[in-house]
Amino acid sequence: MAVEQLGEVKRVGGWRGSPNSLAAAMRNRVPYSDARKCKRCRAIAVRGQDHCRTHLGRWSPLSPGAGRGDSRILGKLERAGLLPLELIALPVWRSLAGLPTSQRAPARLALVQAWDKRQVEPLHWAKAQRQALDLAVQPGKRQFTAWFYENR
Ligand SMILES: [Zn+2]
Repeated sequence: MAVEQLGEVKRVGGWRGSPNSLAAAMRNRVPYSDARKCKRCRAIAVRGQDHCRTHLGRWSPLSPGAGRGDSRILGKLERAGLLPLELIALPVWRSLAGLPTSQRAPARLALVQAWDKRQVEPLHWAKAQRQALDLAVQPGKRQFTAWFYENR
């Protein structure tokens, strides 16, 4: 009379294999012919995807949209020395710091463009400032993944 233990596989009716065994895994295996294939090279696709590991492309936690392009333009301007310190130090610029990139980057790019012509079109500059101030109702948190000029 054996004492039943926790997690023991019943052997009544013959040995049916451990649930951890390769044989048990093979029983639920999808045959190669039924497996979803990559749309480019017909290798087996990654689970839940249409492509294989090679053709999935680079993984990114950030969507390609969502203001990333504007953020990159701001980065290029900064590296070219075209982001004026007078603009970066303004409360308008700083008030946008806590917003997500999708809102922050386009507003700041608009600020840069309006700043460029603030002597010629002061009303446009004032309008861009007003829109940015309306966007940032309350000061947000610092963003540790953004560049320093984005956190000013
Ligand atoms: Zn592929």
